Amino acid sequence: MDPGSSLRSARDDGAEMEKVKEMAEAGSGSLTVVGLGPGEAHWLTPAAQAAIDAATDLIGYGPYLDRIPERDGQTKHASDNRVEIDRAGHALRLAAEGRNVAVVSGGDPGVFAMAAAVFEALEAGDPAWLSLPITVEPGITAMLASAARAGAPLGGDFCAISLSDNLKPWEVVTARLEAVLKADFVICLYNPISKARPWQLRAALELATRHREAQTPVIFARAVGRPDENLRILTLAEALEAAASADMATLVTIGASSTKLIPRPGEAAPWVYTPRSVTKSPSATSQGRT
Ligand code: SAH
Repeated sequence: MDPGSSLRSARDDGAEMEKVKEMAEAGSGSLTVVGLGPGEAHWLTPAAQAAIDAATDLIGYGPYLDRIPERDGQTKHASDNRVEIDRAGHALRLAAEGRNVAVVSGGDPGVFAMAAAVFEALEAGDPAWLSLPITVEPGITAMLASAARAGAPLGGDFCAISLSDNLKPWEVVTARLEAVLKADFVICLYNPISKARPWQLRAALELATRHREAQTPVIFARAVGRPDENLRILTLAEALEAAASADMATLVTIGASSTKLIPRPGEAAPWVYTPRSVTKSPSATSQGRT
């Protein structure tokens, strides 16, 4: 069997949007969870754009909705960032009433974002919602955008951890960090810091210094794909000192023991990459540092 045969083609996506439009016309609603990508419109997929265009109602955190131009016949429902479950329930209710709803998230909607909140609300909600057509449209997540700017830091095995302890205890965060540090993964840290959580990033980087060399490359990628984008390539030792300069729009990537820099001439920041091949076992790598 052709391995690509199960993939949806662009034509299928068009057909899907047609179906959604027909259902809206027929009075039966739909819900699409859409990823807007990390920043500017050129990183929005055509499928995500089509889902936004087809929606009668857009639901999401205010600043994400602000990225979408107003249009006649489309209602925006902005909400606070902390009320994801209410927002998801609202979206499902509107879809059940026959509206064509798009719930928007930054980056990819499945990565620390609204798609999981929608399925949580679906699982706990009105059983009638189970027959609603629900689609998730992927977007470029922050770690991929940041990695692309830096070179190829995710060329080997990597993982993503949210440092937010709003939805899980800090002990869970540190236990997971410890495990992936020992296993020598490249680690992407989402939600590294906020006004309510000022110390977690420094604590995470301190933990990293117990398993990784002080010279390990660390990337602070801020507002990637937006006009105020800023990329800093640091060592782990420098990152520890600079932890307080990260903010909520920053994605932090900690290199593995094999992650390297390639210097570039002039002012250009070095390339960061992680070779695809691994020669040392993780236990050999972290031994003696714990
Ligand atoms: N769904 C989003 C992530 C939501 S969690 C995605 O897939 O990207 C929010 C965190 O994502 C932020 O605290 C930050 O760590 C990261 N982030 C989101 N957009 C970013 C951007 N443009 N540049 C750098 N980091 C970003």
